[in-house]
Parts: sequence; structure tokens; C-alpha cells
Amino acid sequence: MKDEGARVSWDLVCRPNHEWGLRLQNLIDWNKTSMFQHVWALVSNVGTLWVRWTNEYILKGKSFMAFEPTSSYSWFWRKILKLRAVAGQFLDPASGGFSGQYKVNEVWKVIRRKYERESWAGLIWFPLHIPRFAMITWFALFDRLPTRDRLLKLGLVVASECVLCSSDLETRDHLFFNCVFSKEVWGGILQICNLSRSVGGWSQEVLWAVAELKGRSLIITLLKLAGNAYVYRILNERNCRVFGGSRSTVGDLICRIMEDIRFRLVGSAIRGAGQNADICVEWGIG
Ligand SMILES: [Zn+2]
Repeated sequence: MKDEGARVSWDLVCRPNHEWGLRLQNLIDWNKTSMFQHVWALVSNVGTLWVRWTNEYILKGKSFMAFEPTSSYSWFWRKILKLRAVAGQFLDPASGGFSGQYKVNEVWKVIRRKYERESWAGLIWFPLHIPRFAMITWFALFDRLPTRDRLLKLGLVVASECVLCSSDLETRDHLFFNCVFSKEVWGGILQICNLSRSVGGWSQEVLWAVAELKGRSLIITLLKLAGNAYVYRILNERNCRVFGGSRSTVGDLICRIMEDIRFRLVGSAIRGAGQNADICVEWGIG
């Protein structure tokens, strides 16, 4: 799957959750790890029937590591031979062979690529997150939502202007924090949270959230939920307008976001609820 056509690259989707991604193992890397045991057997010359047959009819006395394949070799063999780069990391320079036994965990560690935990992971995957909101925010953070600027780049003939304000090109950054309509929604949410700050652009808002929204207190959880609900509701409003559905006002969206949060937090045992009675009353989560 190519990154340019997909909303999010396969490589990204397959990252383990603790490194920020979905709970899917990278099947390609697991497959390579599994195939590597054939490489181990060949280099170690373990006397299985397959190894004896390969030595006699494929390698014909040559070393597996130095073997030059022709283009007529099968898919399986081309894949096996590509694993020589991995094999090089396990070879003992003195003996030219593997030292020790084949250990799947050790091979997996080498084959699987590592990723840095994104600094904003905690803004989305926190204990009380709402999965469908988190997913949309995740797409937004990678700028993989089907905004009109991206659809135009893919060669799809669509109108380019933002359906919320009709005054600018619809990009991710415009849709969520530069658009006058959206800005008013987010500004309203901040006001209800007693935060007197002006709404910045996408990058500024994400940086602010990364720096400020740490911990598991009521207000932090509430703001994280609000941020995710905001992205979801703005996108939903955009889609309703694009596909001829109903149009909501700024006030409607603020109410909907508050409702989303209320449904999630009401009754949940959350730290700091006792010290934030005014917030609980404001949000109806007491
Ligand atoms: Zn707009």
C-alpha cells in the first residue's frame, strides 16, 4: 500500500500501541521473522531434508551468504535471500556461522523497526478516551483526513473552499483552528473551562496541549476529551454540510461536545472531582 494514496501508511497503522499506533502486529515483520529460521538452518547446516536438498540443488556447494541468485528464482527464494542482511547481524566473524541457538525473540527485535513514541500520544490514548474520537484525532494529527486540499492533490475534482466559512481553502489546519466557525467553537470550550487564552493555529494548539495537558486530573481529562470531541464534531459538521445534511450552529456544536464529555465522565471515579465542584456543575458531571 503506498502512503500517498492511503489515509495512513500501513507501516504506521502497524505500530504497537505503546509506541503509538493501533494494536496490530506488523504481519510483514512477523513473516520475515518466521522465514528467518530457514536462513538459520541453512547457515548452520542443520541436517533437515530441506537443507540437504537446498544445498545440493540450489546452492550447489556455494555459501548461502555469497550465493548469487538468478531472476528465475521463486518469490520464496527472493525473500529468503533478502534476509541475508539480517543474518549478517548474527554471524560470528571468526567462525562465519551463527553462535548459539535460533531465538525468535532476538530475531524479532532485529527485524522489527523501532519507532519513537510521539509526544502527543497521551493526548489521545488516555484511560477515559472515546475510541471513535481518538481515531479521528489520530488521522488529523497525521494530516490524513480527506480534506479538500488532499483530495485535490489526489486528482479528485472537488470544490476547494471550506464549507464552514466559505472563505478559504479547506486544509486540516484551516478546518480545525483557522476557520472562524471552528475557532469560535474551540474558543467557547476553552471559556467554559475557565481558560482565558486566544485560539492559535493547529501547531500552536497541539504544542500547547502537549505541554499543558499532563496527568490524570479531572480538568486535564476533560480538556483531552474536549479536544478529541472537538476534532470529531467539527469533521462531522463539515461532512454533514458537504453531503447535504443538516447545518449546526456554533452553540449546537458546543452543546454536543459537552454532552459527549458528560456521557463519558458521569459516574467515573476521577481524581480531582472533589476539588473542582464548579467545573463538575458546569459540565453536569457531578
Ligand atoms: Zn472555514
